[in-house]
Amino acid sequence: MTKESFKKLSGIYKGSPFHFVGDGFRVSNYFPNGNQFGKRISPFFLLDYNPPHRFEPSDKPRGVGVHPHRGFETVTIAFEGSVAHHDSYGNSGIIGPGDVQWMTAASGVLHKEYHEKKFAAEGGTFHMLQLWVNLPSKNKMSKPKYQPLTRDMMGKFVLPDKKGMVTIVAGEYNGIKGPASTFSPINLFTVDLKPSGKFDASFPPAYNTGILFTKGTVKINGNYIAKAADFALFENEGELVSLEAMEDAAFVVFNGEPIDEPVAHYGPFVMNSMDEIRQAFEDYQQGKFGVLEE
Ligand code: MN
Repeated sequence: MTKESFKKLSGIYKGSPFHFVGDGFRVSNYFPNGNQFGKRISPFFLLDYNPPHRFEPSDKPRGVGVHPHRGFETVTIAFEGSVAHHDSYGNSGIIGPGDVQWMTAASGVLHKEYHEKKFAAEGGTFHMLQLWVNLPSKNKMSKPKYQPLTRDMMGKFVLPDKKGMVTIVAGEYNGIKGPASTFSPINLFTVDLKPSGKFDASFPPAYNTGILFTKGTVKINGNYIAKAADFALFENEGELVSLEAMEDAAFVVFNGEPIDEPVAHYGPFVMNSMDEIRQAFEDYQQGKFGVLEE
């Protein structure tokens, strides 16, 4: 057996300037962001990150109204605050800190996402991310589904000396599995570290790897420093990522087998060709994504 080597760091990137999605999500976009990483982050397609932001009390919950999606999955991870979701397949749910909502839009859904009523009324700190996970072409037109993944369902791995915790949402870490079912191989973890806590992971070189830092300062592979709101992208070279916290820190690890297929993207649709995008618009306009009231 050959000795594993560090994954080569491609770079540490900032997100886009902030913009609002609807009136409830103050986000910075990391990818595609002008397609800065392209296929190097596949099967992940889009990452919008809402770092901690205080919303004042409001009688009318903030959020984003009814809109369609086709061809991929939306994954919302809640760190602070609370969001309610409803879709045209009759699925609904509320997620709070530590919960994840994994919605497979696939052949097409309408949905809406609003701050949960009580959170909206009281106001408070809101901290979340939304990730779009692309689907292989053979699954793009499969039936939509919805996985409400609550914090108690997650895989948990306590790091040495109790200096941190790996929460496994999808895939596997040190034999502990996450609850999400995925269409292509994916590892999605949230990691919390205490000062001098260490996290090591090994992934095949062919799998794409990125890390979004959500708190504190972390040393990567003994060599590079990343801070909250940085995104580290790795090359397809080497296996190991090794992170050490310089202070209380947290980050999200995105890892998966790339989907080696053409990507056609327009607005809320991610397909393989522009013909399929046109078909998505037509089907949406003809009401084939179902019905959902505002
Ligand atoms: Mn949406």
